[in-house]
Amino acid sequence: MEANEPRKNVAVIGTGMAGLVVAYMLRNDPRRRFEVEVFEKQDKLSLDSASYNLANQNDGSAKPERLDLPMRTFADGYYESLKRMYDYFGIPYDSLRFIYSLSILPDNATRQTSPYYMHSSNNHQLPPLRPQGLSWTGWLIEVCYLAICYYWFKACCFFVAPKTVESSGTEESLRQYVKRIMLPNYYVKHYFLPVFASVATCSHDALMDFPALDLVGYGRRTFRKKHYTVLGGVQQVEKKLSEDLTYKLGVKVTAVENIGTKVQVSWTDTHDGQSSSQLFDHVVLAVTPDVVGAIFQPLRSAMNAVPTTTVQSVVHRDFSRIQDSSRCLWAQVSLNHGESAPHPLHMCSNAAATETVHEHPSSALITTYPIAPIDSGKVLYTATFTRVLRSCTSRQILNQIFSQQKTGGDKSQLWRNGDGNVWLVGGWCWDGMVLLEGCLSSATRVANALDVEVPWMKESSL
Ligand SMILES: Cc1cc2nc3c(=O)[nH]c(=O)nc-3n(C[C@H](O)[C@H](O)[C@H](O)COP(=O)(O)OP(=O)(O)OC[C@H]3O[C@@H](n4cnc5c(N)ncnc54)[C@H](O)[C@@H]3O)c2cc1C
Repeated sequence: MEANEPRKNVAVIGTGMAGLVVAYMLRNDPRRRFEVEVFEKQDKLSLDSASYNLANQNDGSAKPERLDLPMRTFADGYYESLKRMYDYFGIPYDSLRFIYSLSILPDNATRQTSPYYMHSSNNHQLPPLRPQGLSWTGWLIEVCYLAICYYWFKACCFFVAPKTVESSGTEESLRQYVKRIMLPNYYVKHYFLPVFASVATCSHDALMDFPALDLVGYGRRTFRKKHYTVLGGVQQVEKKLSEDLTYKLGVKVTAVENIGTKVQVSWTDTHDGQSSSQLFDHVVLAVTPDVVGAIFQPLRSAMNAVPTTTVQSVVHRDFSRIQDSSRCLWAQVSLNHGESAPHPLHMCSNAAATETVHEHPSSALITTYPIAPIDSGKVLYTATFTRVLRSCTSRQILNQIFSQQKTGGDKSQLWRNGDGNVWLVGGWCWDGMVLLEGCLSSATRVANALDVEVPWMKESSL
């Protein structure tokens, strides 16, 4: 920047992980070229806004525990930038021990579920636990069958590449890929779909419409890798990212428009309904695609092709469907290891979807994507999220938007990231599963385009 060149003002819309990270990067530009202001429609910054303080029922004197909603787990292999950022800030994280149980939701959804398989994560329990009611022979056959299917899928992840527009002119969905590699139906229905639908928090059908490349890439990169959660909750990440941040809360952005060389942001105050607008040099949209379509006209029709759904996480104490016997078994596991108790995670499926019920040590359950009814008298808290999904069509559209090159014969007139100094960031703004790493990857893309050094990338290259 020339000595007297004025600083550019930048508006960031949305204060989830993506908005806060891109705002941090631009504010901390070593050449101090950007003045950043962040807009959020909620009355608090949103990264930590849905998290919940859970009082410990077993020990009233203990401090309440911060429950992150969504749980925001991350893994080695897939979350390189996120981990670098956490390390840079000194955010503590650890690999929680989980015990997964898989069960079919009974027809009468108020009856107890009975697991057909239990799996211990982070390899702390081999051989797997035998669910009550399953004979030794039946269990051995099931474990062998499962091992064959599991390693077959993993081998395919490494050696059978999904078809993509780039490689073969057509995009292969997960449904088509699973058929091509002949993954048995029983395994798909009982193991594959429940586990991956829990990661993507969507229906089985919606998951099968994902580009196969997403799941195969995720499966390959997280194979035998550890999964982590932030100790003490993402409130610590939010605090680091928002130090000295200039923000407006309780303002709903209603339009983002190019006016000459500037970008106009218009908003409504959610408390008094008053409307305002301001011109900026750059605007970063860190919101979900349905919101992008609603407030930014050039992407109105393209964003219709990006699927979204609504997901709830419910914190409650309705234990009626959690099997007592399996809970005793888990208690034994923790005794055997003399370590902290593993967290049971029940995945209960019907034909269409899977709900996950996380048994928290503080005597509460967190049900995500609930299918079966929960006794409303035992509900402590409910959070509702917009979940962005993937499809073969949306992958192509997003890849075009984020592609750096405009080809000579490109007559699509599709808006590209950065056109008119408007930028997109978010968990969905990269070519992969809609997870936190997408927030970091897309924020880094904006920083690179504006020639801003990313502090945690600099550290790692030393
Ligand atoms: C149930 C569930 C479980 C998940 N689990 C994991 C997990 O374990 N690991 C993982 O990596 N990822 C997980 N994810 C995905 C991950 O949480 C998201 O990808 C990520 O949080 C998206 O962050 P973001 O900053 O892109 O958007 P968001 O967090 O959606 O932030 C968008 C912000 O924009 C604000 N906003 C919207 N409209 C306006 C407007 N008009 N004006 C002003 N502000 C506006 C919103 O209030 C919000 O604060 C999960 C998601 C869900 C729903």
